[in-house]
Amino acid sequence: MSTRRDRARALAARFPAAREALLFYGEIADFEGDWRELREIALRHGPAMLRDAASRLTAERIEAEPAGFFARVLARRNPPVVRVVETGVCPSCGHPPQVACLRPEGHGTVFLLACSLCRREWTFPRGHCPVCGETSRDNITYFAAEGIPHISTRVCETCGRYLHVVNLEKDPEAIPDVDEVAALAMDVWAAEQGWEKVCPNLIGI
Ligand SMILES: [Zn+2]
Ligand SMILES: [Zn+2]
Repeated sequence: MSTRRDRARALAARFPAAREALLFYGEIADFEGDWRELREIALRHGPAMLRDAASRLTAERIEAEPAGFFARVLARRNPPVVRVVETGVCPSCGHPPQVACLRPEGHGTVFLLACSLCRREWTFPRGHCPVCGETSRDNITYFAAEGIPHISTRVCETCGRYLHVVNLEKDPEAIPDVDEVAALAMDVWAAEQGWEKVCPNLIGI
């Protein structure tokens, strides 16, 4: 049983605009097989571009593209949280964050970034930018995602990069890398503003 798949299906029912993206993400989010099985999933459930890549896939091609879709899915794990690290890239594998989250802790919440490759979460200063190192809170702006009260979009006005923040205090069932797919409409809106996501997710959004 896949927790991420269940979560993706539940969100797909709530947020029709992101339904297709969520259902596909649900199929790959907890994937644990080999590359041939992954190719089958991509051929069956993937968007057209991915199906095309899957039809020509070899182990060599995966190795040659470590930041590509297939290599990223195969590299995923569920590692523990890392404490007290102030780095904009994953302290384990050096990849950029996919999403941020607020997890309840004590009487408040702790702000964490989650790795786009290995999914490790690490603590990061709430008012800093993981991309350009901006440390002035005034230049970090939060926008509410319409209709999704537990997600907001966090933009650095200095470098124009953004990521979604999943608030687990507001929705304890949330799984950050799954829930951020539900904020698809915010990605479209952010692109219209000229902002760039810190790192596109596995399905290229
Ligand atoms: Zn990592
Ligand atoms: Zn920045």
